[in-house]
Amino acid sequence: MRGERLDKLLARLGLGSRKEVARLVRAGRVRVAGEAVRDPGFHVPEGASLELDGKPLAVVRRHHHLLLHKPAGYVTSRTEGPSVYALLSGFPTRDLAPVGRLDKDTEGLLLFTTDGELLHRLTHPRHKVAKRYLVHLERPATEEDQRAFAEGLSLDGERLLPAELSFGEDPTRVELVLREGRFHQVKRMFQARGNRVLYLKRLSLGPLELGDLSKGEARYLTPEEEETLY
Ligand code: URA
Repeated sequence: MRGERLDKLLARLGLGSRKEVARLVRAGRVRVAGEAVRDPGFHVPEGASLELDGKPLAVVRRHHHLLLHKPAGYVTSRTEGPSVYALLSGFPTRDLAPVGRLDKDTEGLLLFTTDGELLHRLTHPRHKVAKRYLVHLERPATEEDQRAFAEGLSLDGERLLPAELSFGEDPTRVELVLREGRFHQVKRMFQARGNRVLYLKRLSLGPLELGDLSKGEARYLTPEEEETLY
């Protein structure tokens, strides 16, 4: 992938408008990988260090990460369709892998990354990364469900990690926080309690929140969001 333009990158790092950062560059105050660069249109190679007035600014990340608001009806797969990758047109997707999967009928936050190590860290149960779901249920959830989930439910002979179930006035609209991601886990947990999931949406993954990203839209993580992952 061709690197990002220096002026665009510096503006994205919060050093000023494109015009302002171009002035810094032309004045010779910016170094890329140790070399002064005076062309604001210079394409910064991945992994290069950036300095302003001799002070380190950032290392240009080799990896990128995309956050998608997955709508129902899309499969978390490259090969089966309709594929979530169809929603990422306009983004370079060659090395992007989904961080876990959402079922075809599940909506919400789906992260993609080019960083295999990060993917492993976010998905391995050892790291206990929290995933928060909004769940609509056929029947009201109960305090016994809450206790059973908090103690760690047994599913098909396997003990799950403790999960937090919360609800307010309407106990058919609940939130569930998991710290692992087994196959159809939310649906199977409620099934084991004699209930049924009618609608499922992932609201957050670790420090990342779906927020007001529109359904079907994708965006790069902000530098602040990236910071929270590393
Ligand atoms: N649990 C499920 O049952 N389905 C999902 O898509 C995600 C978590």
